Amino acid sequence: MNTTPSTTEPAAEPVRRKPTLRAVKVRSLEDLGPRMRRVTFFGESLEGFGPPKPGSHIKLFFGDLPPDWQPAAGQPRPLTRTYTPRHFDPARRELVVDFVRHGAGVASAWVEQARVGSALIIAGPGGGQVFPDDLRHLVLLADESALPAVGTILDNLPPTSLVTLYAEVENTMDRYNPSLRASPDIRWLFRSPSRAAPGGLLRQVAQGLNLAEGALIWVACEATAVREIRQLLLNERGVDRAQMVTRGYWKAGESDHPDHDMGD
Ligand SMILES: Cc1cc2nc3c(=O)[nH]c(=O)nc-3n(C[C@H](O)[C@H](O)[C@H](O)COP(=O)(O)OP(=O)(O)OC[C@H]3O[C@@H](n4cnc5c(N)ncnc54)[C@H](O)[C@@H]3O)c2cc1C
Repeated sequence: MNTTPSTTEPAAEPVRRKPTLRAVKVRSLEDLGPRMRRVTFFGESLEGFGPPKPGSHIKLFFGDLPPDWQPAAGQPRPLTRTYTPRHFDPARRELVVDFVRHGAGVASAWVEQARVGSALIIAGPGGGQVFPDDLRHLVLLADESALPAVGTILDNLPPTSLVTLYAEVENTMDRYNPSLRASPDIRWLFRSPSRAAPGGLLRQVAQGLNLAEGALIWVACEATAVREIRQLLLNERGVDRAQMVTRGYWKAGESDHPDHDMGD
């Protein structure tokens, strides 16, 4: 008897769900350092948002959009950018997003002029991952754009997991504690003294990394650098694919880097 599953049944149509668009307003702003601005949004529309997984993302829609804006056929699509839902408080309907003030682009410009009451439309969350409860050691290599995601990961990791974070930022003023976790082991790397290229110092760390058995590595930074780091870990450091997660968060010289760049 042939036990091979039949391949003649019609394939199910993929279900495309329309993302829920949520109109939010700025409740407060706080500078975590000269290049990182924390924005707390609120809105009744955040009912049912999340809970976001660690390392997940949202989409921000820019432009002068009415709160009930919906995409319509034939209309130009507004500019969107990808950010991390750093913290969500369902009772207060508050969502925290941390923006790198890198100086170019629609999102970076928006956060420079944002005030209490400024409005935005968001969609999501999507993506993200959950790490195993018995994870022994998590090594994170991140630039400032990925530090909000690092915060979500560390806040959700069991206290028994050992954590080592290599955080690449511009200079000493850019240091802040990205998570609620007590005394995380953070090794700061500063680009400005050596005028290192984005991700260059993380690459140097990867070159000398010895990953113990049972450890995982999570890398997120500039897209070209993340590819170099991934190849280096695979080919020179003998790290298994299953031991690593790599993500390109932005690309030098390009706008609107996609939200699903796996770094390979
Ligand atoms: C899953 C995911 C989560 C993310 N979460 C966050 C987050 O929480 N906070 C955050 O700040 N960013 C986050 N990013 C990165 C963010 O999406 C990009 O930095 C995005 O390009 C910013 O949009 P923009 O309009 O400011 O600049 P763009 O219009 O996209 O780019 C304009 C110019 O600025 C450069 N540029 C873009 N980003 C940076 C940067 N970080 N440093 C230096 N130059 C840059 C580009 O190369 C380009 O030349 C995330 C990205 C992903 C994929």
